[in-house]
Amino acid sequence: MNCVIVIIDGLGDRPIKEFKNKTPLEYANTPNLNKLASNGITGLMHPIKKGIIPGSDTSHFSIFGVDPEKYYSGRGPIEALGANIKIKNGDIAFRANLATVDSNLVLKDRRAGRIDSTKEFCEALDGMNIDGVEIIVKPSSWYRAVVVLRGNGLSDKISSTDPKLTGCRILDSKSINSTKEAKKTADIINKFVLFSYEKLKDLKINKERESKGLLPGNILLPRGAGKFNKIPTLKERYGISSACVAGGGLYKGVGRYLGMDVIEVEGATGRYDSDYDAKVSAVNKATKEYNLVFLHMKAIDSAGEDGNPRLKKELIEKVDRAISKLQSELILVTGDHSTPCELKRHSYEPVPILICGSGIRTDGVKKFGERSCMQGGLGHITGLDVMSILMSHAGFSSLYGS
Ligand code: ZN
Repeated sequence: MNCVIVIIDGLGDRPIKEFKNKTPLEYANTPNLNKLASNGITGLMHPIKKGIIPGSDTSHFSIFGVDPEKYYSGRGPIEALGANIKIKNGDIAFRANLATVDSNLVLKDRRAGRIDSTKEFCEALDGMNIDGVEIIVKPSSWYRAVVVLRGNGLSDKISSTDPKLTGCRILDSKSINSTKEAKKTADIINKFVLFSYEKLKDLKINKERESKGLLPGNILLPRGAGKFNKIPTLKERYGISSACVAGGGLYKGVGRYLGMDVIEVEGATGRYDSDYDAKVSAVNKATKEYNLVFLHMKAIDSAGEDGNPRLKKELIEKVDRAISKLQSELILVTGDHSTPCELKRHSYEPVPILICGSGIRTDGVKKFGERSCMQGGLGHITGLDVMSILMSHAGFSSLYGS
């Protein structure tokens, strides 16, 4: 049996007054998701456990059956895999923003005016060596980049260089324990940040940007340090082949961490303009080759973070239209967390989940929504239950006992 896991980022929400106290998902016109719910089994899913506010990274680990308490080691390594860096055990990886500072290293813009690519900037910094440690710098989406330190005696126990507030001077990275490895790593990152400013401020592309009145991308600010450690792949755990279709680097990174092949789709941007139909076509092609395909839809979460329930509703309807074309023997749809528009951030509330496919017990729920799925046959499950249920139904799990 082939299966597809659809994760709609930030799907869950709270009642919205202008939607007659319905959530964006409840208020949206979603005939195709409702059909899957009617023909399948539904419930509510707590990505980590009840009452915990999940990050997108820890939540995806959990949904794919990898206990984040055991295996999560920071966002950096996942972003590095998303940027297609061949990361090795022991590497220290960071996510980083290309930012704008003044000559006193005071932050003017965390995203260099939301610059749309960091390619040239990363090329100027990639491959240097500081104190015997190799520094790998690669572009990620938009103003984002990834920095990896490769060498001996390094630690991920160091603090961020990004003050996150404009008008503040950039931060010195500090060791967050007293080991010499952490002190050494913080020292290298601080040297790298200063070097990035010296190197980038006079780049030709920055002179051109300034002449057009645009902000220069003149410093790289690493944060989210993490040490890469290999985790068990889906192949090792279930013996299955798997692939990932996503726009955002983080989700491609999750896929690679789990041993999935990442299928690049033109028009899959991870932004509001992402081409969902192209992504679904790629998934339909992939289900002929792979046992499991992971389809990630990002923009719904961004609408929640922007506090825009109308846009969130419209994007959910866009997902619903694309899903009407999805072909698979077993389809699971859920979110990685709730992003209520009123909070503009992730929250602890569980997300609806549905599983539809041959042989599934149905439960009488006709609508895919936060309240309707409370009545569903799956009840309340956690992220770590998801793969167990899906793999057992698809015939990829073995008997426990005899
Ligand atoms: Zn998320």
